Amino acid sequence: MLVIKVGGGEGINYDYICEDIAGIIKRGVKIVLVHGGSHEANVLSEKLGKPPRFVTSVSGYESRYTDRETLEIFAMVYSGKVNKFIVEKFQKLGINAVGLSGIDGRLLEGQKKSTLKIIEGGKKKVLRGDNTGKVEKVNIDLLMLLINNGYLPVISPLCSSYEGEAINVDGDRAAALLAVKLNADKLIILSNVPGLLKNVEDESSLIKHIDRSKVSEFMEFAKRRMKKKIMGTAEAVEGGVKEVIFADARIKNPVTNALNAKGTVIN
Ligand code: ADP
Repeated sequence: MLVIKVGGGEGINYDYICEDIAGIIKRGVKIVLVHGGSHEANVLSEKLGKPPRFVTSVSGYESRYTDRETLEIFAMVYSGKVNKFIVEKFQKLGINAVGLSGIDGRLLEGQKKSTLKIIEGGKKKVLRGDNTGKVEKVNIDLLMLLINNGYLPVISPLCSSYEGEAINVDGDRAAALLAVKLNADKLIILSNVPGLLKNVEDESSLIKHIDRSKVSEFMEFAKRRMKKKIMGTAEAVEGGVKEVIFADARIKNPVTNALNAKGTVIN
């Protein structure tokens, strides 16, 4: 079983990803796909006159402040356009994909965090009315029902709070928990970079290997949202996933390349 997370940054080629995954599934490998949509969400937010607001938590992580209107835009993009058109690509390739968000069947469940402690202009502030959280539970029965009947689950990272409200969660960490709960052999994280870079500006500074016991030491290289990928990796490895691979989603055969260690391999 493979859990694949594909990001939503600029330059990601979904045609290449779907073609490659379709080929791998046809060879008998079971896959769960989690996707992002950040670039599309930013574009739509701007068009709707509600530009995204990125905030930095007191612990140094960047996130999207998600009031109810932002959550609506998030759902439109992630669980609408992006999810459905990934499913469409698979259907054209003869793969029976089923698009789900984490609130469908409570596929993903977790604690809502309505208050954010942030740093803005050098000062600590408390932001209320946030609709985010962290995935803590996975509805494995629902996933296995699909997988064992030949469907490919395509998951967007909305999540259900324990009270049943929709919340926005980080896709990388959701994929990490899915990999743990599904006992996946590998977690593959695809984005618009070749892997973890020592210097974000220099694509030739790829870090090729990270020892599983040293993941957190590599946090120093990660800027902005890359930090969440490192955090998710640490969680996956701690939860027993044997290998996590960061690889490039802009080139042909992105998953096969990742499986051939073209990227950052953490094991
Ligand atoms: P996605 O939407 O694909 O999940 P993000 O855009 O959140 O991905 O994260 C990928 C981005 O992280 C890259 O485009 C890059 O600008 C940024 N980044 C920050 N630090 C690093 C790093 N050390 N190595 C590679 N990318 C990094």
